[in-house]
Amino acid sequence: MYAVEVEDLVKRYGRLEAVKGISFRFREGTIYGLIGPNGAGKSTTLRILATLLEPTSGEARIFGYSVRKDKHKIRGIIGYLPEEAGGYKYLTGYEYLEMNAKIYSPDNYREVLEYGAMLTGLGDRLEDRIGSYSKGMIRRLLLARALMHRPRLAILDEPTAGLDVVHATQIRNMIKDMVREGITILLSSHNMLEVQFLCDELSLISNGVIVAQGRPDDILDETDTDNLEDAFMRLVSHG
Ligand code: ATP
Repeated sequence: MYAVEVEDLVKRYGRLEAVKGISFRFREGTIYGLIGPNGAGKSTTLRILATLLEPTSGEARIFGYSVRKDKHKIRGIIGYLPEEAGGYKYLTGYEYLEMNAKIYSPDNYREVLEYGAMLTGLGDRLEDRIGSYSKGMIRRLLLARALMHRPRLAILDEPTAGLDVVHATQIRNMIKDMVREGITILLSSHNMLEVQFLCDELSLISNGVIVAQGRPDDILDETDTDNLEDAFMRLVSHG
């Protein structure tokens, strides 16, 4: 069985077709990347997989469950990191994790909360209000929230966006640790070089269409380039 299976997925917002019939799939234990420039349709695809948005047509399955018919089941086995997360700035980081643990893991919330607090790496700063956090601290908090209940699949929208090299590296290491613990990861990024080193397989997306798919090394071979940025530019200018 595939961890994620997307078939001919389409999403229209009014007259704008943001996702134009994309298909990809990957197995459990993988780090899979959706890579492409701003507006390519990555967030739209991830929100459909997280069951927050209805597809216009096509189908997507998470561990065999349909995003159309089995939303409740899917919500129980995924963790989702949104691209933007507003609100909650008056809560402390700890209160934010506690609230989420109580909502999503009522049966073992203390254990989930302590694990989440550890994952943030924020130490005593968890007692401070989120409003006082740096961008990197907020990203770590939200990532911990998405991972603390040890989902089967973590869907991470731009996990390192806007972070400096130190914080981006910490997040990448956290993602790799999670895979070692058996969590499957689907992430999006417009940082093609980062993805080249992080992902086992990926789809390069441009304007709602997949322009290349496969293992990073195979895409480099096929395009006769030595990095994904050049591969992408070559594919888009020829396509
Ligand atoms: P970015 O990295 O900039 O977030 P993305 O690849 O995640 O880009 P999406 O956010 O999925 O791309 O957007 C794809 C297209 O759909 C864009 O043209 C965007 O303006 C449009 N779009 C996204 N959400 C909506 C919405 N709720 N209503 C209308 N158009 C939308």
